[in-house]
Amino acid sequence: MASVKTWIYDLRDFLLPRRCAVCGCALSTSEQVLCSACLVALPYLPMTDFRDNQENRLFWGKIPVERAHSYLSYRHGSPSHRLLMQLKYNHRPDLARWFGRQMAKDLKRRRFFEGVDCIVPVPLHWLRRLQRGYNQSLMLAKGISEVSTLPVVENCVRRIRNNPTQTNRSASERIVNVEDVFSAMPNLPYHHVLLVDDVLTTGATLTSCAKAIQRQNPDVVFSILTLAKA
Ligand SMILES: [Zn+2]
Repeated sequence: MASVKTWIYDLRDFLLPRRCAVCGCALSTSEQVLCSACLVALPYLPMTDFRDNQENRLFWGKIPVERAHSYLSYRHGSPSHRLLMQLKYNHRPDLARWFGRQMAKDLKRRRFFEGVDCIVPVPLHWLRRLQRGYNQSLMLAKGISEVSTLPVVENCVRRIRNNPTQTNRSASERIVNVEDVFSAMPNLPYHHVLLVDDVLTTGATLTSCAKAIQRQNPDVVFSILTLAKA
């Protein structure tokens, strides 16, 4: 049976070559979404102290954060930038989901999910979601859920303003830009929420989303996970 499956995959790759999301080379049957060379060359961030790292410090004094981690570092024009562009703008929900699983496999071994009760993806405004066809953060969350077995809670927070993209804005502009952008539901039946987003820059969007949840659910604490950190 395995050999039939391999043969089918070989045929698929011959007829419709799948491409690496970073360099564009044809993937071999054993490779998924990225070629092996691009996968090992990505700028992975160290998984050391989730409670006292650069990511976590962005939220100190703003929201109660247990653990925080970004999987990759990201610079304009870098391979991780190309990856994010594919994931957001080239209709690749599969790519986000695959990276969700990949992050979760590595983080599970380091007990990142210990005590976490649920996963909440940072929502897109409905109009943006309609344009894109999916919310990349939800796809990341679904991949994380597959490995961690934590439930994904989609509808506890909504983005009520379609604020323009954060790219090309200064830190203070970003903070003003994301205030009161989110609206949350009360009676969330979970205490420790893992907030998931694609990119962490100043932390303004995640802080705003967390504050909206906290206004309705004062006892909630957060952990933060993003695919990349600018
Ligand atoms: Zn590649």
